[in-house]
Amino acid sequence: MTMVSKNDETLPILVVEDDPISSDILRKYLEEEGYTSISVTNGQDALELYQHSFFSIIITDWLMPKMDGPDLCRAIRNMPSDSYTYIILLTALDSQDELEKGLESGVDEYLVKPVHQAELRLRLKSARRILELENTLKRSIAEIRELSIRDPLTGSFNRGYMDEQLANEINRVYRYEHSLSILLGDLDLFKKINDTFGHLAGDEALRQCARTIGNSVRRGIDWLARYGGEEFVIVLPETDQQGCLVVAERIRQQIAALQIESNGKTFSLTISFGVVTILPGDFTKPVTMDEVLISADGCLYTAKNEGRNRVVATQI
Ligand code: GH3
Ligand code: MG
Ligand code: MG
Ligand code: MG
Repeated sequence: MTMVSKNDETLPILVVEDDPISSDILRKYLEEEGYTSISVTNGQDALELYQHSFFSIIITDWLMPKMDGPDLCRAIRNMPSDSYTYIILLTALDSQDELEKGLESGVDEYLVKPVHQAELRLRLKSARRILELENTLKRSIAEIRELSIRDPLTGSFNRGYMDEQLANEINRVYRYEHSLSILLGDLDLFKKINDTFGHLAGDEALRQCARTIGNSVRRGIDWLARYGGEEFVIVLPETDQQGCLVVAERIRQQIAALQIESNGKTFSLTISFGVVTILPGDFTKPVTMDEVLISADGCLYTAKNEGRNRVVATQI
């Protein structure tokens, strides 16, 4: 789940300038500095364009018809966005008071007209530095988020993610009136595997089981979380009881067929499933996540009592 940043260096720069000569000069300078640009002649057109396509850098004139530079800047700063736009204000006004007013609108930098190419180059360099910082920060946040939702041993989602997402999935049952199935799988007699083949062999078995489950469900729709030590929760959105029984049975057979090798020894293992299908019903009385898990646990308990390596299902 990588966060894609919009701040891409290859994005064109938006130039907003009503004076055609100044606009042409800017375009030429930008081209010489290796940037592409798109030009419009007033703030209103710029805002309309920005609403449809993101720009990470805008160079805008101050005085223009329809909407001036500071108003454009204020409008952009008031728009919700997950990426930053660096705004440079062009001005022929050099009085301190006026400049302060312009900067208060939320622009990052200003350039006094006529623009000198060397100065433009330096301003763009600092723009790039800020945008690069933003990208680095976003990548770190995405990496931390990824680490915080994964189980390090198996790479599947962890309990925290499950708590967060399962509640959302249950809400969707009532909103879209689709059934949702949840498989609670527990490896059979796993303690004995650890005792017989060692803890590392047990870890390898957990990894292979998670991989087998992951390969057996619909990518991007179904998802898997490590619920506890040797317990997995598999969530199958928009799946009724008949459908989820097929999936559970397939996974049960695939896990039973695994030949796990560790430290020169080969062994196999089995899994039991407690399966719950939530049927769309009275949205004023939605089932809770706890109710679903308790119900799945009840089925799992039955599966264990009836001899393990089997699937027991219910509907709520
Ligand atoms: P049952 O069929 O009734 O589920 O029996 P079981 O032995 O699987 O159940 P029990 O709950 O008694 O034991 C679970 C075992 O799973 C004990 C624990 O050491 C092991 N386990 C839990 N997490 C890990 C892990 O990360 N790695 C390894 N190797 N073993 C783990
Ligand atoms: Mg102007
Ligand atoms: Mg267990
Ligand atoms: Mg077990």
